[in-house]
Amino acid sequence: MMSSNETRKTLLLVNPANKSGSGFIMNKDTRYQPLSLGIIASLTPSDWKVKIIDENFREFRYYDADLVGFTAFSSTVSRAYDLAKIYRDKGIPTVIGGIHASMCPEEASMFVDTVVTGEAESVWPQVISDFESNNLQKIYKGDLPGLIKSPKPRRDLFHPGYVFASIQTTRGCPMNCDFCSVTAFNGAHYRYRPIEEVLDEMETIPQRNIFILDDNIVGSTVKSQERAIELFKGMISRGIKKDWIGQASLNVADNEEVLKYAAMSGCRMLFIGIESENKEQLLHVNKKMNAKMGAGSYNTVFRKLHKYGIAVIAGFIFGWENDTRESIDARVNFTRTCHADSIQSTFMTPLPGTRLFERLRDENKLVLNNFPGDWKYYGYENLVFRPETMDRLEMQEYIFRGIDRVYSPSFLRRRMLLTWLRTGNFITAYWSYMSNWNYRSMAFGEIKKPKNRLLG
Ligand code: SF4
Repeated sequence: MMSSNETRKTLLLVNPANKSGSGFIMNKDTRYQPLSLGIIASLTPSDWKVKIIDENFREFRYYDADLVGFTAFSSTVSRAYDLAKIYRDKGIPTVIGGIHASMCPEEASMFVDTVVTGEAESVWPQVISDFESNNLQKIYKGDLPGLIKSPKPRRDLFHPGYVFASIQTTRGCPMNCDFCSVTAFNGAHYRYRPIEEVLDEMETIPQRNIFILDDNIVGSTVKSQERAIELFKGMISRGIKKDWIGQASLNVADNEEVLKYAAMSGCRMLFIGIESENKEQLLHVNKKMNAKMGAGSYNTVFRKLHKYGIAVIAGFIFGWENDTRESIDARVNFTRTCHADSIQSTFMTPLPGTRLFERLRDENKLVLNNFPGDWKYYGYENLVFRPETMDRLEMQEYIFRGIDRVYSPSFLRRRMLLTWLRTGNFITAYWSYMSNWNYRSMAFGEIKKPKNRLLG
């Protein structure tokens, strides 16, 4: 606890990392700034001192504080619980928010004094006020606030080593896929920030590279497409020179004006969750748009992005409940022959709060289920449930062998040349090449990069 002659209170915010050092957090190019902690910091009264400890860059070392806050994904939550214990043992109050605690508040409340569920900005001022009056509650339920005048994150507190700055312009997704917790956490209603506010914030970002965190930058309606075009036009007219990556669904190419202005505003790559080429699997998890458009449409969409110099990062999932050796081979071959530029390969992971998790739990198929310790395996690089068709570890091993082919070094070099040819843009091709190496590292839980970049 801070000394009594210290008048300024200290809030310590912690972004924990998975101690196994694997998965999506291990690679410096694919770590993203903990935007939520920056927003919490900006909502904390100015007479508080705020510090962020970010384990994406440096392992936790004890730092004295009056109040300690954590954010965590499922794969990092047990680390958060371990660190919370250090402070609780000293009588220092701890708070946790973020997607895992929101989906598992009862579990979180066993390890942390106070749990904030949902989008925390709606209740954070109350948390601080209750702390100051010595009346901190066990739980605060955040709602889904409108995004007008949303607080801007304290960017000065983020570690300077991030290659990409993060920004968010919309929240929510109406699609509600069975394996995804975005709809449960951010709601089914697609909410926009006012464009002028987004542009004002972009102008404060020092980095050239930005990652637009929106789960879907164009949304699924004509109105949301028009809004995206206005955003991109605003970036162009204000002279905001950024190279950016975003995320979209397959309908992103429905209106080529979206692609034209995205490219003009600096879009280099778009991530699209393809998941599978198999319609039956897509329908099984309620991925309706992909199932409806069909695998035959994927290359048509990819080619439209290429026409505007934008590369495609295609997300594919391995380890479906009904995958077989043949279907895994088919997916590997599909990733190698399709016109996507980078491939993200992940294991199907039933995250808490999703229908997939509830079903597999109810069917007693979750094998890694000793929670909270086993949450560390829920980082997309392990098969954590028993599939229908094969032994779990046998399937996992077979998938690793398949993924090895997805990222074979000679193939990645060929893929980069194809991207260069297809987009006519060497920078885009180079970004795609490097992101393939990043995804390879994440899939295998190890850093394997080309020694001299292009000649690995
Ligand atoms: S996977 Fe994508 S489309 Fe499906 S619910 Fe999540 S964010 Fe929405």
